[in-house]
Amino acid sequence: MLLMAYTVSMNQTASLETIRANIAANSPATVSERARLWADAGLLHIESDPALSQSVIAELESMVDDRGFQVGSNWAKVIRAWQYIKRGEEQRGAAELRSAIAAFESHGEKRGAIRALNGLGVVYRYIGLLDRALEILKRAMAMAESLGWDELISTINTNLGLVYLDLHDWNEAALCLESATNSSFAAIHNLPIHQSHLAIAYTELERINEAEELIAKALKICRDNKFEITEADVMGKYAAIVERQGQHESAVLRYDESLALAKKLGNKRLMAEHGMARAKILFAIGRIDEAEQSLADAVDLSRSAGMQILAANALSELALVKAKRERWEEAYKYADEASKMERSLFGDKVANQAATFKAERESVQSAAYREELKRLSILSEIGMALAGSVDIESVGKILYERISALMAMDVFGLALYDDQAMTLDFRYFVEDTQRVEPFTLPADADGSLGGICARSSEPILISDLELDAKKYVKKPRTAGKVSKAPIRALIYYPVRVKDRTIGLISVQSRAAEVYQAHHLEIIKALSAYAGVALENARLFSELKSMAGTDPLTGALNRRRFMEVFASELQRVRRYCGKLGIILFDLDKFKQVNDRHGHVVGDLVLKEAVRRCSTSLRSNDYLARFGGEEFIIILPCTGLDGTLVVAERTRKYFESEPIPLPDGQSLTFTASFGCASLCEGDDLDSLTTRVDKAMYRAKNAGRNRVEFEIIENTDEGITVSGLPGKPCCGEAKP
Ligand code: GH3
Ligand code: MG
Ligand code: MG
Repeated sequence: MLLMAYTVSMNQTASLETIRANIAANSPATVSERARLWADAGLLHIESDPALSQSVIAELESMVDDRGFQVGSNWAKVIRAWQYIKRGEEQRGAAELRSAIAAFESHGEKRGAIRALNGLGVVYRYIGLLDRALEILKRAMAMAESLGWDELISTINTNLGLVYLDLHDWNEAALCLESATNSSFAAIHNLPIHQSHLAIAYTELERINEAEELIAKALKICRDNKFEITEADVMGKYAAIVERQGQHESAVLRYDESLALAKKLGNKRLMAEHGMARAKILFAIGRIDEAEQSLADAVDLSRSAGMQILAANALSELALVKAKRERWEEAYKYADEASKMERSLFGDKVANQAATFKAERESVQSAAYREELKRLSILSEIGMALAGSVDIESVGKILYERISALMAMDVFGLALYDDQAMTLDFRYFVEDTQRVEPFTLPADADGSLGGICARSSEPILISDLELDAKKYVKKPRTAGKVSKAPIRALIYYPVRVKDRTIGLISVQSRAAEVYQAHHLEIIKALSAYAGVALENARLFSELKSMAGTDPLTGALNRRRFMEVFASELQRVRRYCGKLGIILFDLDKFKQVNDRHGHVVGDLVLKEAVRRCSTSLRSNDYLARFGGEEFIIILPCTGLDGTLVVAERTRKYFESEPIPLPDGQSLTFTASFGCASLCEGDDLDSLTTRVDKAMYRAKNAGRNRVEFEIIENTDEGITVSGLPGKPCCGEAKP
């Protein structure tokens, strides 16, 4: 079957009338054929005369075939699609094409369907979905071959060639492109594109002379026909060929030319595309500043023109440049923005697929890019994890575990800073993967880098302590808690809430030179999350302690003790009439702190509470009354029973030394005072008695139990509820 094609002579000025005359000369037999010829004309003039192709669209809209099928308006869709695609609005183009394909196919309009399929293949290639592009173009090719439509076979061959170029299959690309360029049906407006692409394949196949000849031919056709957009495009291809030959500087100059033309034409797509290609070369040859500027321009351009795919590409390139400059936060921002954009454009599945192709095509750089994305996702994951934690313990754990995934470290510390006491309270500390019990350091000591960081609220990064620590301190403390092996590199980063430094994060390594500026950036990002989390933890522990527990030991606090005492007093008066009270105070506790430090002191306090709890029943109460002073309420227990509990606890304290983190052990004791409820007792009188008893125990040499009774008077005191039985004056134990 012979298929007619719309042709126009080179020097003829096109108008609606000349088109009409040309089509009439072809004497199309059907509305379908007439519409197709009009569409050819419209497509031919998209670049050279946009207004004319718009008039062609108007002409087409009214063409309806004898079956009532709006064949013309479907062809109009194809032209409109190409207008969109040329403007970089691939998504809208694809939508027009899909709708045209469906309509053409349902009316058996094969030629329309082939044209639209071809267009869709091109769009998929533009957005990097190469496997879909290949599939669709092959489908179009099979249909075109079955019709023997040589002109379209040539066009599809070109587009297949381009996909193979993208897939770096140079031989296959050259085959397709050769048959496209040599086809006598190749449309004149497509020829320069075919040629310049074939030139790229030839360059890769090291057929350089042939490549350059083709470029020269392509440029001539463009100039002769005023295909200026195509000319700028071909110049860009030429630049790419020059680049592939390793002539980077001169490739940049070629791009400068193509950009100048694109700018003159006001073609944002080419400006952004060539600007990006130019930036990639600049980046590769280390002209980073210019690359950055060029990419920033490409981002602005593609955004302002609504070219989302280009914008996403430019953003991820820009992220790479920022990463190269170690501006990690900006790198995260741009990479994140790019992936969000891709996701919103194509949906997750397609975005991933596009990313896969991209990753395949990109070389070593993509590894760095993915590494950054990993960092990015870890950061936001940490943010979410921290947002949910309400105690310092879990804040420390999360930070430690996640930061270890991001950088090498032998020591990690999270400390709270007390600017009144000038202390750094290391609440979470890990050395050589071993958890170290919390400890407190003076923040104003000589040699305290952490102190300097907290006081100045400035981060400290030291690559090699042996060389650089002297900038900060005369003699830094460099040994860890667990191992004596010296620390060589470290970061201290202040954790701030509003304008106050409330703590610090530290990572340390025994190897020198492991921390760089970007590690500092990561910790900076995390310190913001940590600040919020620590503030939450503080509020929560305040809340908890308001609710009644002492955060260190878990015993009741004094306030809660008062409430419990009042209600228990009422309760026992109604039921059993008995209530025992024990007050104990750790002996020489100041020495424990002085000799072993606060951490060990805290450890002893916790251990005392733990041991004490083991001798209590479930309805007894233990409260922290003061620093190292605790009080026990024993409901329904007389003085005898109270003394037994006190003595058992005293023995438990003295008998088993506490093992310390440094391998030593420590024995602690306490002095106990006991009293029991008497008629007329209130909180005050009872606590005064146990207090007296406790001081007697101290004065009698400590580590002993004493009790205090009310002397029997003439009035004869009895326990209410149990008449006749004296409450006090029971035998000494
Ligand atoms: P005594 O036998 O006379 O009771 O002597 P002491 O040293 O125990 O008594 P003193 O009252 O002189 O010292 C009590 C110490 O307890 C001083 C204070 O620093 C320490 N202390 C109070 N609360 C805490 C705490 O929460 N943690 C630690 N580690 N020490 C605390
Ligand atoms: Mg004491
Ligand atoms: Mg005391």
